Amino acid sequence: MDFTLSKEQQDIQRAAREFALGEFPDRAQEFDRNETFDLDIWRKACELGFVGVFIPEEYGGAGFGFFEHCLITEEFWAVDAGMANAVLTATFGAELLGLFGTEAQKQTYLPPLVGGGAIMGTAITEPDAGSDVTGARTTAVPDGDEWVINGSKMFITNGTIADYLLVFCATDPENPDRHARHSFIMVETNRPGYEANKIHGKLGIRANDTAEVAFNNVRVPAGNLVGEEGKGFRELMSFFNLTRLHVCAMGVGIARAALEESIAHIRKRHQFGVPLASFQANQFKVAEMATRIRASRNLYYEAVWLAEQGRIDHGLIAMAKWFCGETAVRCADEALQMHGGYGYIDEYKVQRIYRDAKIVEIYEGTKEVEKIIVAKTLLGR
Ligand SMILES: Cc1cc2nc3c(=O)[nH]c(=O)nc-3n(C[C@H](O)[C@H](O)[C@H](O)COP(=O)(O)OP(=O)(O)OC[C@H]3O[C@@H](n4cnc5c(N)ncnc54)[C@H](O)[C@@H]3O)c2cc1C
Repeated sequence: MDFTLSKEQQDIQRAAREFALGEFPDRAQEFDRNETFDLDIWRKACELGFVGVFIPEEYGGAGFGFFEHCLITEEFWAVDAGMANAVLTATFGAELLGLFGTEAQKQTYLPPLVGGGAIMGTAITEPDAGSDVTGARTTAVPDGDEWVINGSKMFITNGTIADYLLVFCATDPENPDRHARHSFIMVETNRPGYEANKIHGKLGIRANDTAEVAFNNVRVPAGNLVGEEGKGFRELMSFFNLTRLHVCAMGVGIARAALEESIAHIRKRHQFGVPLASFQANQFKVAEMATRIRASRNLYYEAVWLAEQGRIDHGLIAMAKWFCGETAVRCADEALQMHGGYGYIDEYKVQRIYRDAKIVEIYEGTKEVEKIIVAKTLLGR
């Protein structure tokens, strides 16, 4: 097994880092404090080819693999998580369209995502259905040649700015098999009956829009069904097998940011007449952070490497997701600790890293849900 990056992959990685370093640091604090973002930065990232690199060339993408998307993600998150997410989650759902969409759906929805013409999202979570996705109660009822959608969704990334959302709907809510109740339906957000309210006061990734959304008799054409009716749960699991790898890259990226900030700080600040870096307590912290980062990256690289060959390892992906999340949170915690009181104020980047890191353990499957998956692969159901 050889994880040496090709020349092209190294170029992508370097270009992503240069873009993030050029665009993010000057604005990151402003966007974090104001919970805003400048979409021109996303447009620029689209123009330079960083958005949707995994989308095939026939739909306007670069036709790279999901691995290259992860490389870009790691570099962006190593500079600023909120801005990275504001740029890169604009394609959230394209993976599912790629797997299960019809040719016509791919031709319609994918090219604008790459070209900076549209933002999308995926709406699964509901106020009463989070980890238990099969409990989702937003309904889609057929009426002539349309679906009529009613219900509400919670914590929807890009909810107030998306042009379209893939919505996880109950199309057969009474089916005794909970895994056969749901289907994905594409909803254009300019349809009457769609409402989105931005959620304020998030702990972190505050540059990235998150909303509570409602569907009040929203009508979409029957042809907006994506994938097969009643197969939504299984399609969702296939989708998560890709997007969780993306979240792993986020975790490793932000853990790297924590390590970089720590090394710079403990070299610069002196106590007891010597740099903080001369204390073994701090040396052990950076040694452990670097080890966790390396281990996390190897875990997710292996999972992506297998996935790229069509050898999806659901258990390995779940392992990588919780482990990369824990790496992010632990490294951020140690980094703040090494900053002492300075880490506690938002003038210092490490405070934002500490707040941003936590999301990696929560979305797209909490760390507990991931461990349940790992245990099932070991013990059976
Ligand atoms: C910033 C942000 C962005 C998000 N973006 C999106 C998005 O774009 N689209 C979308 O659909 N959702 C999105 N989410 C929702 C996210 O995926 C959910 O918050 C997550 O899946 C957890 O669901 P929940 O919040 O309802 O927590 P709950 O399911 O209520 O879980 C609460 C706690 O209980 C634990 N728990 C639950 N069930 C079990 C169990 N069986 N065994 C052990 N422990 C358990 C969990 O691990 C967790 O620690 C986003 C969330 C946030 C915060």
